[in-house]
Amino acid sequence: MTSAMSHVRRVYAHPLLRGTIIPALLLLCSPPFTVLTIVTCQAFGGDLLAALAALFKSPASLWAVFPSPSWWAVGVLGGYAAAQYALLKLLPGRKFVAQLTPMGNRPTYVLNGVAAYVINLAVVFSAGYTGLLQPGVVYDRYGEILATVNIIACILVVVLYVKCRMAPQNTDSAVTGNLVWDLYWGTELHPEFAGVSLKQYVNCRLGMMAWADVVLCFSFAQAERHGGLSNGMAVSTAIQLLYIYKFFVWEAGYFNSIDITHDKFGFLICWGCLCWVPSVYTLPSMYMASRPMDLSVVAAASVLALGVASVAANYDADGQRQRVRATNGKTTVWGKPPVLVHAKYTTGDGKQHNNLLLASGWWGRARHVNYLSELMLALAWSLPGGFEHVTPYVYVVFLTVLLVDRAERDDLRCRAKYGAYWTDYCARVPYSIVPYVY
Ligand code: NDP
Repeated sequence: MTSAMSHVRRVYAHPLLRGTIIPALLLLCSPPFTVLTIVTCQAFGGDLLAALAALFKSPASLWAVFPSPSWWAVGVLGGYAAAQYALLKLLPGRKFVAQLTPMGNRPTYVLNGVAAYVINLAVVFSAGYTGLLQPGVVYDRYGEILATVNIIACILVVVLYVKCRMAPQNTDSAVTGNLVWDLYWGTELHPEFAGVSLKQYVNCRLGMMAWADVVLCFSFAQAERHGGLSNGMAVSTAIQLLYIYKFFVWEAGYFNSIDITHDKFGFLICWGCLCWVPSVYTLPSMYMASRPMDLSVVAAASVLALGVASVAANYDADGQRQRVRATNGKTTVWGKPPVLVHAKYTTGDGKQHNNLLLASGWWGRARHVNYLSELMLALAWSLPGGFEHVTPYVYVVFLTVLLVDRAERDDLRCRAKYGAYWTDYCARVPYSIVPYVY
């Protein structure tokens, strides 16, 4: 394990690979892959390996079934984006002042995600249930929608880059000079537009909200086509909707997460939330929409229990850390006073600040223990897809790679930020994600 980790560190330190080659490949390959997810489900019977084989054996035949963007999809996406903007702007909510950025700026957000989420689900569910709208159409025309949103998102990434060059948002905005990296990673940390934080709008109100709405539409699609909802689809949908509900309850915590505090707003985050989340994250539901599977009562109950327990563990772990900081350590963790590392760090403006690192409770077990529950969750809502094809598990595999990489990146970031204090924390909590294993 040690030599594997030092290999990973060497790769991370390789600027050409990490800074240009991998980002360029991701910029080129990821957009068509997102469209391939729905092509797989609609034209290859859910068999991703067969779709990939066709890509290499007969690209022309694959191209023939590849959907094109459409003005109909532009209208649907425009209406959806406008509705989410209105909910974000108009619903009442507490103002949340986030932590300092590396350059000493302090972004603010409005916390009205739970209300927006409930309204979204109520609208989609009631429109589908009463027959006012046919949510199943979203499944039928999802290829068009994904092809269109990919084009819009890529244009947005370029616009954001140009905006940073011409009118940077604040001192956290910076162009590195490596165009591939700047497009991939982004150049602005907290861009704003029309009075809203683009990160809150795109990540939370478009990406996460669309995830919920889309899996609900896919459930309707299955029920319409197969005369009812399979219990596998019902369990998977319930776990995903519960997880996304937890996300909105915890929205303030998200504003202290890596996506917001560290990652800039380029292809990775902006395109990722607009295109990758609604395609790869929804893939288990997309797959099941045309392949209903009923589980035994025991299997369905076990999967549901795994999902609910994982949501609870994930929420509790993130909450422990937030509570400790919010109370300046004057709280209890698992019934005992918290074990803390009193860390210091310096922002780009030269000022020194204090922060608490929790080293007990969940955070005494592993430094990214929240990722373990995240992986268990992903497994829970994918298992109802069965084992005939790998397709329902693409998200689990992707998430494992993402979270191992993210844990490593976060360790490097925290070491740079907290120095010896982070080393002290790592000595107290030696495991990264899985206690006693990794
Ligand atoms: P975290 O929310 O775990 O944030 C990491 C940051 O927390 C560190 O950079 C550090 O920031 C602070 N921190 C680290 N250790 C401690 C500690 N012991 N005590 C207090 N603060 C600490 O990371 P993510 O943003 O990756 O995850 C946020 C949530 O999103 C999690 O629930 C995760 O499971 C989920 N997630 C979901 C993904 C998905 O695609 N489904 C992908 C990634 C995450 P600082 O000290 O600067 O505040």
